[in-house]
Amino acid sequence: MLKVPTANAPIIQLLDVHKSFGEAEVLKGISFDVRRGEVVCIIGPSGSGKSTLIRCINALVPVTSGTIRVDGIEVADPKLDKLALRRKVGMVFQQYNLFPHKTALQNVMMAPIHVLGQDKREVEARSRALLAKVRLAGKEAAYPGEMSGGQQQRVAIARSLAMRPDVMLFDEVTAALDPETVKEVLVTIRELAEEGMTCLLVTHEMNFAREVADHVYFTDRGVIVEHGPPETLFSSAVDPRTRRFLSQVL
Ligand code: ADP
Ligand code: MG
Repeated sequence: MLKVPTANAPIIQLLDVHKSFGEAEVLKGISFDVRRGEVVCIIGPSGSGKSTLIRCINALVPVTSGTIRVDGIEVADPKLDKLALRRKVGMVFQQYNLFPHKTALQNVMMAPIHVLGQDKREVEARSRALLAKVRLAGKEAAYPGEMSGGQQQRVAIARSLAMRPDVMLFDEVTAALDPETVKEVLVTIRELAEEGMTCLLVTHEMNFAREVADHVYFTDRGVIVEHGPPETLFSSAVDPRTRRFLSQVL
């Protein structure tokens, strides 16, 4: 895939991350790096800890032990500057959670104005450009209830991009969509990736992972079972758990 040149330094680093909810250990020592400009996919059965993992990276869930660094920020530091982290890390969820009484444009403009205190005119111009970028030019004045799931999810992506993040996290963002709108959301993410945005995605879209990911991690019950470039992992997985999972989803 053609990409703009980027420095090869890791922007996300996880080292021996553990997470327990009460007695249940959900992440059992996860370590990996994501380099600038890379697209990394996390796959695995439901309940593996994928959402927990991705939520630990932007401090929505505190880790039990281990280290997470995002562009030098120690996420587990009790003195963590959450706003600094929020500016670096954009996140999009399965449920897009747009404000229903705000238009598409207002949804995109809200955080830069109210969280960062940026100039309204400048934010508006940028937000219009972002809506065009996610192929929603003409939908600026539409309310979430007037848009398809795929359109709403693209507004959610534009809303995240409005904070000018260095990294985007996506947690099964197409899982709740109608099949016909899944593709338009994947196209948007693919275009972002091709522009060099660092993307970490939890996904069940194996074709997307195969075509766009630089690296794929297969997780099961809180551990990374196997990982590699998609062409290797999908054609010659070694571990029986990986093989079983792939045989169900490919
Ligand atoms: P996945 O995204 O791979 O399906 P999750 O990270 O959502 O997995 O969940 C992994 C496990 O952690 C599940 O057993 C889930 O019930 C549990 N879990 C997730 N969040 C919480 C929570 N806030 N409190 C207690 N248990 C949780
Ligand atoms: Mg999940």
